[in-house]
Amino acid sequence: MARIVMKFGGTSVADLDRIRNVAQRVKREVDAGNQVAVVVSAMSGVTNQLVKYCTDLSPLHDAREYDAVVATGEQVTSGLLAIELQRLGTDARSWQGWQIPIQTDDAFGKARIDGIDGSALLASLNAGQVAVVAGFQGVAPGNRVATLGRGGSDTSAVALAAALKAERCDIYTDVDGVYTTDPRIVPKARKLAKISYEEMLELASVGAKVLQTRSVELAMNERVRVQVLSSFQDIPGGDIPGTMVVDEDEIVEKQNVSGVAYSRDDAKMTVRHIKDRPGIAATIFGALAAANVNVDMIVQNLGADGTTDMTFTVGKADLPRAHEALGAIQSDIGYTDLLEDPDVAKISVVGVGMRSHAGIANTMFRALADKGINIQVISTSEIKVSVLIAAEYTELAVRALHTAYGLDAA
Ligand code: ADP
Ligand code: ASP
Ligand code: MG
Repeated sequence: MARIVMKFGGTSVADLDRIRNVAQRVKREVDAGNQVAVVVSAMSGVTNQLVKYCTDLSPLHDAREYDAVVATGEQVTSGLLAIELQRLGTDARSWQGWQIPIQTDDAFGKARIDGIDGSALLASLNAGQVAVVAGFQGVAPGNRVATLGRGGSDTSAVALAAALKAERCDIYTDVDGVYTTDPRIVPKARKLAKISYEEMLELASVGAKVLQTRSVELAMNERVRVQVLSSFQDIPGGDIPGTMVVDEDEIVEKQNVSGVAYSRDDAKMTVRHIKDRPGIAATIFGALAAANVNVDMIVQNLGADGTTDMTFTVGKADLPRAHEALGAIQSDIGYTDLLEDPDVAKISVVGVGMRSHAGIANTMFRALADKGINIQVISTSEIKVSVLIAAEYTELAVRALHTAYGLDAA
């Protein structure tokens, strides 16, 4: 007998038929003698609709009320799955974040899990009941519901697996594993049997939405065995193996570049004609930090007239708050214009081989140049190179890079 966590994303619970399918999968594990905690997302499209309600009413809405709205999607699915399991004769009970409780910090809208008290859940599992947990949500100090950022049900699942000391954490989704790039835009993408925590972490953080970044971070720190697999495929009596996220030393064949990712979630901002003096960067990024806006790529250009332009990227959803924060400091730093461009994409290549091989970035720049794609901003880390380009070239760039690094399936 094993204790396992199974997580089902939005498309896996998109309608009642899909929920029936999920219930069958859960029942199969229970009938095999396992203790099962299930984590569910909202039905496909629901969270987007809830987010839109909030932003349509007010772009600068209160994050606490946003959380009160968007956390509801998962409550619905957890109840529905528990009903279907009970109908099949499998004892099951739904759990909201506050009932467990899953304690978070007070960064509403993108809260972090501070701790999970697994004792009530464990008692229920030990009594033979399936726990159907609403993903994406927890409870912040002051007893308010808080959500974990988009894609956060992955993190709920891994955190729960760690708290319950589960044998494994299976993340069921609409693809059958982690690929060398998004298989929806590159049909020649290859499925990876294994990927290292480090590479998965980097790929997720630059846009590969198959796992939320924090879920990988947590799995790496807590040594949770995570598998990504499909809820849409079956072999008689079981699942087709997906991709295991493992330690680097478990991977025999190391590639220089193991994956390509893209993100259209960022917007570019340029603060123009600022005086070139100490303290300017601190003022700009201090104001953004105070407004809870995360900044990613940054470049500064010195103009011929002695002023500088500061260009950087922020999350698209943070653009209204960034605009407001920078508007408030215009008189302090005396810039002339604030340019905003949401039509950009960040394209990244990731691989642990970069630590020991030169020329990887240059292959990227050459491949993009050959397609006539202009690079607006560049940033690098130990195992990643990212570039910002016009959004219209996203797919072209991803395909070109996938080929340039020899990743295409035969
Ligand atoms: P869920 O609703 O199950 O959480 P997501 O939409 O969040 O599913 O994540 C699955 C999607 O991630 C896939 O449909 C795929 O388009 C996308 N994706 C992006 N990069 C990759 C990759 N490298 N490998 C697999 N899927 C990827
Ligand atoms: N429903 C949430 C979202 O769409 C959380 C998740 O699916 O992981 O972001
Ligand atoms: Mg997801």
